[in-house]
Amino acid sequence: MKKKTLMVHGGITGDEKTGAVSVPIYQVSTYQQPKAGEHTGYEYSRTANPTRTALESLITELEGGAAGYAFGSGMAAITAVMMLFDSGDHVILTDDVYGGTYRVMTGVLNRFGIEADFVDTSSKEKVQKAIRPNTKAIYIETPTNPLLKVTDLKLMSDIAKEAGVLLIVDNTFYTPYFQQPLSFGADIVLHSATKYLGGHSDVVGGLVVTADKELGEKLHYVQNSTGGVLGPQDSWLLMRGIKTLGLRMDAINHSAGKIAELLEAHDAVQTLYYPGSAKHPGHELTKAQSSGFGGMISFDIGSSERVDAFLEKLNLFTIAESLGAVESLISVPSRMTHASIPRDRRLALGITDGLVRISVGIEDTEDLTADVKQALDSLL
Ligand SMILES: *Cc1c(COP(=O)(O)O)cnc(C)c1O
Repeated sequence: MKKKTLMVHGGITGDEKTGAVSVPIYQVSTYQQPKAGEHTGYEYSRTANPTRTALESLITELEGGAAGYAFGSGMAAITAVMMLFDSGDHVILTDDVYGGTYRVMTGVLNRFGIEADFVDTSSKEKVQKAIRPNTKAIYIETPTNPLLKVTDLKLMSDIAKEAGVLLIVDNTFYTPYFQQPLSFGADIVLHSATKYLGGHSDVVGGLVVTADKELGEKLHYVQNSTGGVLGPQDSWLLMRGIKTLGLRMDAINHSAGKIAELLEAHDAVQTLYYPGSAKHPGHELTKAQSSGFGGMISFDIGSSERVDAFLEKLNLFTIAESLGAVESLISVPSRMTHASIPRDRRLALGITDGLVRISVGIEDTEDLTADVKQALDSLL
């Protein structure tokens, strides 16, 4: 089955008993046991819930893995994955990893003895140099936020295999529709499902898929023990979102390409960060390992004042954190998602005061490009 078909027919669909076409929301915590100690596969909803199971089976198929698990947020998913490691273990992460991931590694998990190093994973040498005897995993995002740096999935998988460590990929930005890290040899792929998978700015959730069953069982042990599960209502909303993921990603990818063309040619834009641009250093790599460039575009328009003037003129882009929704969103990393990073370190990472990041939605392409154009023209 091709991906768009799988999004509609994959996993567990409908309800055998009633013929309901949509999976019912099993709003239930416990299940009657025919005999004490015997159960139907469901005994308590922290351990398993039929609506959550349906979602978990769907994401497992979409990522081409062996087992999948749904959590109450992307951060709950990431934390559960890190709970696979022991005190004294070491993890190498992409240096411009999602801010919440940086925070949980350096503010919470460090207290339990899990060590983290943040390195530029677009450099093979830097990753190899960071590997220590106690290293247990390489954790990457590709492309990254907000500068859309691209990491070679196959190369990272080769390095991880050679060192005998796991490769973990946060696939939030491209989704399985555009990129399937397990097919390049990753061991674990995870998502903030709050973004494209949900897609409608109405649910917070996280998903994890493992390449093999045994690792999946270890993760289920952590999930059941620590309890950060996704509820049935939110599981249902995510399944509903995933049904249209392919359609949304095609529309978003198309509009993002048009907007990026406009940005690249416009005198008010100093630097463009978009993997679909032939000038982007990760362009060829993205074409090789992904089937789309996604809906995230960052660009520098020079200064904080110019950013404010630009935002003032835009009509269709909502100023908000988050991404991946049907509505187009815009954020200013230096003042929003990355505000807690000291200015010097921010500037060293390339996150200037004039940088804006857009998440393209599914509005009409012509309306979006016209809106961006009139707002940029006003800066000249
Ligand atoms: C949002 C996000 C997360 C965290 O997910 P939540 O659902 O907000 O907990 C992790 N990784 C990436 C790349 C994200 O964009």
